[in-house]
This record gives sequence, C-alpha cells and structure tokens, in this order.
Amino acid sequence: MKEEIEIPTDHPRANSLRIREKLVMNYKLGIVVPQGLIAHGRGEAFDYILGERTIKPAFKAITAAGAAMLLAKYPVISVNGNSSALAAKDLVKLANITKSKIEVNLFYRSFEREIAIKKVLTEAGAKEVFGVGDQASARIPELSSERRKVDVRGIYSADLVLLSLEDGDRTEALRKMGKKVIAIELNPFSRTAQYASITIVDNIVRAVPLLIEEVQRLKFKSRKELSRIVKRFNNEKNLGYCIEFIAKRLIEIRKRKILYPETMENLSPWL
Ligand code: ATP
Repeated sequence: MKEEIEIPTDHPRANSLRIREKLVMNYKLGIVVPQGLIAHGRGEAFDYILGERTIKPAFKAITAAGAAMLLAKYPVISVNGNSSALAAKDLVKLANITKSKIEVNLFYRSFEREIAIKKVLTEAGAKEVFGVGDQASARIPELSSERRKVDVRGIYSADLVLLSLEDGDRTEALRKMGKKVIAIELNPFSRTAQYASITIVDNIVRAVPLLIEEVQRLKFKSRKELSRIVKRFNNEKNLGYCIEFIAKRLIEIRKRKILYPETMENLSPWL
C-alpha cells in the first residue's frame, strides 16, 4: 500500500509525518486499531518534548536492557499492532540475536488482527509467532483485559518480557508473576514506565535498532559483567533523570523564546 501523500523530504517534520503515514496504512490493513492512532499521538507529544532524539538516560536503559536480554533464560518479545507497524523487521532481528520468542498480545483482540500481525512478522522474517487464536490459552492472573490471554510456550513461561505501547495493568501483572519487564515507552509518567524493571524512554523506531547494536556489542561480555550492568541500573533513578531532562528542556525552549509571547506570559508564574 502506498502513502496517501508524498511527504516533502525538506519538511522539518518529515520523519514524524512518515511514521504517521505508516500507521494510517497499517490501520487500513487492519493491523492498527483507531485507538492505536490515539496512543501514538500521546507518544508523539512526549517525543516532541524530548526533541525526537534518544536521550542519555535512554542509552543507559538500552545497555541494561541488552544485558538483561542476554542473561535471560527464556526472553519473549510481546508485539501489538503499533509495534508491528513501526518496527516489525527490527523486532524480529532483535529476537534472533537474543534468542527470544515473539508473541502477539493485543488489548483489542480479534482473530483477524492476530493473523494480520502474524503475517507482518512472518514477512519480516519470524519463523515462529506465538499467541495466535487458541494458542493464547494461558491466563495472566488478576488481569481482566484481553491482554490476559497469553501463550503457554511464550509470555506465560518467560522470565523476561520486552514490550512497548503497553497498558500499565499488564506490566504490573507480569511483574507480580516474577518476570523481568523491559518497556519501550515515551511517557516516563505512565504506569508502564513506572512498573517496568527497565524502561527505555524513547521512540520504538529509534530504540530497537539501538538495542540491536548494543546486544551485538555486549554479547562478547561475560555473564558476570552482564549481571553487573543490570544490577547497577536503577529504573526509578533513571526515570527521574528523564523527567529532569523534560523539565530542563521546557525551560530551554522558553529561554529561546520558541513559545508564542502570550503563552510565555501565561506560563511565567509556573516557571
Ligand atoms: P499506562 O496504562 O501505562 O499509564 P497509557 O494509558 O498511556 O499507559 P496506552 O495509551 O495503552 O497506555 O499506551 C500507549 C503508550 O505508548 C503511551 O504512553 C505512549 O507514550 C506510548 N507510545 C506511543 N507511541 C510510541 C512510540 N512510537 N514509541 C514508544 N512509545 C510510544
């Protein structure tokens, strides 16, 4: 399927517009749901504030995530409509180099959608995709959404789950099951970000390729060294740095007078 409009290459927000087009195309193919487009908008707003680049605390989290994936006994990558639309190829590559399983897990579950997402992942090179149809017969305890349905050979048995564009409830439930959770999440305030063991505050389109690079670098390290990297990482502290970054960046934007003068005036009592 072709993009609806040709995005001018010199447009200052060309990349962001291209990502939107990708999501709209995948919506038309039944892979992304309308609610997924709204969720992307929330992410975009945070990405705008971050400056659409990977910030230092995200690099730190990526290193910890790479080490944790290499140490895991049974890592599983959980994929939904948005993540398969935006990063299918890279997620499959990441699964291959970390020997992770891939599972479809959806909040808005339908058999047609599961099949459509499985097709995207298979075309991206995945040999096996869990969580489709009756395969998702195991249940995450204390979770009432459709996301509770998991594959016994996948998320249910995993010691580590990597997820993105997630709702906080399942992240919390997975932690309660004793699993390590890596979240790729642009919003450092979300419950997912707060509940995960390692939160990468970055856009999935940037984070997954960086995670692949990091795994390729870390795979030559000893298990002892990898454990040290994971132990040294403190998610709460790192999220705090992300929030500090956002606060500083807003002040920096204000100093450079990028805001409209009237908005600046309205904001001044709070700055
Ligand atoms: P929670 O339940 O964890 O508080 P939420 O209610 O925000 O989260 P959703 O709306 O289901 O949950 O999740 C969408 C999340 O995905 C948003 O927090 C958004 O920041 C994030 N997000 C959207 N697009 C991207 C993207 N491209 N890369 C990374 N994160 C993204």
